[in-house]
Amino acid sequence: MLRVRRRDYIGTLLRYLPTCRTGMLPGVKAAIVSIGTELTNGLTVDTNSAWLSLELASIGWDVGLHVTVPDDRDAIAAAVRQGVAQSDAVFVNGGLGPTADDLTRESISEAVGQGLSRDPELLRQIESYFDKLGRSMPESNKRQADIPIGGHGIANTCGTAPGVRVMFDGKTIYAMPGVPREMKVMFERSILPELPVDSNRTSTVVRTIRCFGAGEANIGEQIADLMTSGRQPVVGITAHDSIISVRVIARDAAIAEAEVADIRGRLGQLVFGEDATTLQSAVGQLLLDQKVTVSVAESCTGGMLGGRLTDVSGSSGYFQGGVVTYAYEAKTDLLGVPADLMMQKGAVNGEVASMMASACRRRFGTDYALSITGVAGPGGGSDEKPVGLVWFGLADAGGVVVEKRLFGTHLTRWEIRDRACKVALNLLRLRMTGESG
Ligand code: ATP
Ligand code: MG
Repeated sequence: MLRVRRRDYIGTLLRYLPTCRTGMLPGVKAAIVSIGTELTNGLTVDTNSAWLSLELASIGWDVGLHVTVPDDRDAIAAAVRQGVAQSDAVFVNGGLGPTADDLTRESISEAVGQGLSRDPELLRQIESYFDKLGRSMPESNKRQADIPIGGHGIANTCGTAPGVRVMFDGKTIYAMPGVPREMKVMFERSILPELPVDSNRTSTVVRTIRCFGAGEANIGEQIADLMTSGRQPVVGITAHDSIISVRVIARDAAIAEAEVADIRGRLGQLVFGEDATTLQSAVGQLLLDQKVTVSVAESCTGGMLGGRLTDVSGSSGYFQGGVVTYAYEAKTDLLGVPADLMMQKGAVNGEVASMMASACRRRFGTDYALSITGVAGPGGGSDEKPVGLVWFGLADAGGVVVEKRLFGTHLTRWEIRDRACKVALNLLRLRMTGESG
């Protein structure tokens, strides 16, 4: 049921009722307009829109439009009009400051065809904000009390810029400050409580399944039927630094659980955990559960793998230590890799990876040892050993296995090293869950 919290919305609801045939209302639609030249020129990332979208989704609203415009009166007015034309409510953020480049009030007044009028109560609130700080109010702050005629101010409890609420064409336009903290407090305290909650569409449960070991497209194909538009629960995929995340947004925990179980069943060993789980925390948990230890011997990752393992609190329960053997001499001195082997074949091959892992395991006396040796680039590649070629070793009581990966040359040095750490951790994970030989 749609719960109405404010009379303003009765009009919105009445417009929907004729389309309501099945008892399932179409969602209330929102547009978000972010204002600031620092956003359009890339100096600031617009995190406000993302935050607002999630908040609106949590009450079952559909955000159908994100627009970002510079501090330009015509651009802002056009964006607000576009939002009004396509949505039931428009959430504007930014440009409410006291300076000449803050044009949101003027632009909204232009968009709704109403002049500005100075609100004495708002002016008093701004003055008292300065009083509390023991400062006198600069003249320029007075224009922050200007509101389009017919609109209302929204109190700002942590800054000077009041918000604006104005109706136009049966739709509500809200303007909030751009400063993220001020925007969030204003939205949560003064705006969210008056928005109708569409409990038919509220997404109360979000579960995120983390996968590694296949590409986004491959994983997408395996769950394509779950991702059709309009289906409930909503399933989506994102990829970030080779971790593929499958997100399930469901109305209740039981629906989410059933969907997650289905997806986990389909993706099998590609899934290493959920939500905040990382490869290193998943591996760490396995090591703890099985009461075994690990050590690492690293070349091209220069300590990153040891760093990842120790990112996890409690890692002293299983991580014994590591060696960074970057130069040939270090591989020989610390791990006993024969110098003439490396003189003949170089340091990036399975034999070296294997020796590094088994010597590391002996030195540290651990149950497992991982090794990494590769070409992280961007220089140093050859036809035979291109940038992105990495060899891995995994030693345990049964011996050593080696694996080779060829990461694309399009990857940066950091990305190759990052992927190498992930592959090494994943090798150990699969070994420990009995899913590799
Ligand atoms: P106000 O409406 O309070 O006057 P403003 O647009 O004038 O806001 P700015 O001076 O442009 O505020 O920005 C204040 C701070 O808020 C800056 O650090 C800016 O980068 C940040 N900010 C503004 N808009 C956003 C946004 N959409 N996402 C993230 N940060 C933002
Ligand atoms: Mg701004």
